[in-house]
Amino acid sequence: MTDIFFGTTTTLNRFSFLRTNDDFISKTILDPLSPARLVFYKQDGKNGIHPYMIQRDGKFGMLNLQLNTLPSQLIRILHDWSMKNSKKANDLRDDVTLVFLGLDEDGLDEKYLFNDNSLSGSFIYPNSYKLKEYPQFKYDKFQGTPYYAIDVTQCQEFQTYLSSFEDVKTVNNMMSILTVSKNESSLFAYSKMYMDWLMRNKFCPGCGRQVIPVDAGTRLLCKTPKEECPVKSSAVSNVCFPRTDPVIIVGAVSSDGKKILLGNNQRHPAGPNGKRMFSCIAGFMEPGETIEESTLREIWEETGCSAREVKIAASQPWPFPANLMIGCFGIVHFDGVNEVINTELDNELADCRWFDVDDIKTLLNGGELDDVSLPMEGSIAYELIKSLALGKY
Ligand SMILES: [Zn+2]
Repeated sequence: MTDIFFGTTTTLNRFSFLRTNDDFISKTILDPLSPARLVFYKQDGKNGIHPYMIQRDGKFGMLNLQLNTLPSQLIRILHDWSMKNSKKANDLRDDVTLVFLGLDEDGLDEKYLFNDNSLSGSFIYPNSYKLKEYPQFKYDKFQGTPYYAIDVTQCQEFQTYLSSFEDVKTVNNMMSILTVSKNESSLFAYSKMYMDWLMRNKFCPGCGRQVIPVDAGTRLLCKTPKEECPVKSSAVSNVCFPRTDPVIIVGAVSSDGKKILLGNNQRHPAGPNGKRMFSCIAGFMEPGETIEESTLREIWEETGCSAREVKIAASQPWPFPANLMIGCFGIVHFDGVNEVINTELDNELADCRWFDVDDIKTLLNGGELDDVSLPMEGSIAYELIKSLALGKY
């Protein structure tokens, strides 16, 4: 089930143990034969951080360039970063901020071809190489194409270079980003969460001093002595590493499988076609809660209905900004009380209804049902609803 969602196609081996290996990181950047590739981000003061994307013929793709095809002055900036990374230097993010994402062990295949073909010229693959023949980066017994995400907000040279490409710009429209290919959606979800985390975390929450992104951008280091900083002195710090916020999303169903509970959120009023989106119940998990408890609580708080059983179905990284959607099914045993809808507890839903399974099937097959529409295909909500309608849960 998971392969169908945005952000869930595994393309890179993260090699998380190599992030702390300065020799490895330096070689991926400094080796003139390294085929390391970069995906680019830039901050926009009030709206967060956004990817550079290529737009052509109404399609979007992540901009994805090979390091050793960049102009020499830009390569020099990356070399400087790699020296500073080895030294854990205080000015590590003064020019560019990089995050090592992992190795693509398949080498250069056609998974990102859309991007490369979309760019005119040969500045991605030197003409002398065919896709499959491009040299692999080797280190110890590992090999593949190194991938980095890079934030160029502080670096005018990079911005000038990127602005020279026609069709390339930063994209801040979620619906456009959601149209990228499955492979790219994973690259985006993964890199965006790191970039967003680094952008939002400049100071230590324990002592207020500046933190620096060490281990190739994957950990924030506070240099204050241990005894002066409660973050530094804790046994396991949960603020040095990027956060992932778990969100449960639940398709609730009657125990006989004939009715499905969907809600229309206050934030989703009727569109131009007069349709309102009815979707699964969702909400952030809270500290000290199990996934099951959180699911039962959210169903009750939003709809007033009481479920008894919970089944965990699938999960999806959702980088707006840092969520992990945990898809569940909640089973409601009708007894005249459990199924009674009351949306006035937390007032999050504008409307909530028990739908007949046959009506949901009609909608899934492209048919019409009053003012009701379903979430977009490929979303975890859509797939949960579909599974319930088909009795696959
Ligand atoms: Zn500190």
